[in-house]
Amino acid sequence: MAAAAATSAPQASGSPRPAVCLLVLGMAGSGKTTFVQRLTGHLHSQGSPPYVINLDPAVHEVPFPANIDIRDTVKYKEVMKQHRYVLIDTPGQIEVFTWSASGTIITEALASSFPTIVIYVMDTSRSTSPVTFMSNMLYACSILYKTKLPFIVVMNKTDIIDHSFAVEWMQDFEAFQDALNQETTYVSNLTRSMSLVLDEFYSSLRVVGVSAVLGTGLDELFVQVTSAAEEYEREYRPEYERLKKSLASAQSQQQKEQLERLQKDMGSVALGTGTAAETLSPMRDPSDLILSRGTLDEEDEEADSDTDDIDHRVTEESHEEPAFQNFMQESMSQYWKRNNK
Ligand code: GDP
Ligand code: MG
Repeated sequence: MAAAAATSAPQASGSPRPAVCLLVLGMAGSGKTTFVQRLTGHLHSQGSPPYVINLDPAVHEVPFPANIDIRDTVKYKEVMKQHRYVLIDTPGQIEVFTWSASGTIITEALASSFPTIVIYVMDTSRSTSPVTFMSNMLYACSILYKTKLPFIVVMNKTDIIDHSFAVEWMQDFEAFQDALNQETTYVSNLTRSMSLVLDEFYSSLRVVGVSAVLGTGLDELFVQVTSAAEEYEREYRPEYERLKKSLASAQSQQQKEQLERLQKDMGSVALGTGTAAETLSPMRDPSDLILSRGTLDEEDEEADSDTDDIDHRVTEESHEEPAFQNFMQESMSQYWKRNNK
């Protein structure tokens, strides 16, 4: 608890720590939204209200935008000054986020600016069958390898069933095989082989049992979040920078052209401090749209505002959430118009 209390206290002085982004993913109905709401309440009560971003497209009934300059929209300076945590709720249908270009771009944009942690929420009460449990873990595993970010599995709904059975399955391979053997349904050799693969995944996994409805398990969660954020700084940030470079050089010609078109269309909204030629360089990774806005320091930001075509005063005077939503809507319509030509 000591660790959790220390990390959720607001910054008093000195250079601000970057806000830690918690990207909440999981199957539909696993309790992501309930969890984000519970976490929000918890952090409020600790005197450290989070910045909450709702990326659920069900609200707009349109697919995700292809590009978001998260720093324009989230007002990152404020986020860094005032919020220790950024919580990102994602669509009910997980694949809308995890397997869309825009989900990848958003994830990269966040992860290249802030310590970002994936919180994979699962419905413990619906994972009591070993096969279902394994499917869920395979999905979590695929997301881990796709995002390459520190990862916490939140076993939610522990008010219905304690998550100890799942922890045992993860720690004790024999116990899981026994459970598989008791399945009356046909269990293929593939299932058994897959569980061997998962053993490796389990060994480095952070797991926390939580009830989003009751609010239990959150102290333990924040201990894990702190450790995951340290892991990000230690291992993922350098790795992420390297990865971005190699991805950029491996981009196909088609991707380059698409990106170039996208950047042109986005115009001054997405362009940063660089010259036009520099910023439009097709070799760049999409997240550079965000990175090209320059360093996070105060002076650069002020300089940005003077040279940018967009009027920051408008968005800065309005409430943050509407500004973010407007930006998303604008980006979405631009993207879909262009792609339906
Ligand atoms: P999402 O689709 O992942 O955002 O899931 P929701 O947050 O909308 O939750 C889906 C359902 O699970 C809702 O009926 C919630 O009330 C319920 N739920 C969420 N968390 C818990 C929990 O910790 N315990 C119980 N018993 N129900 C939960
Ligand atoms: Mg939801």
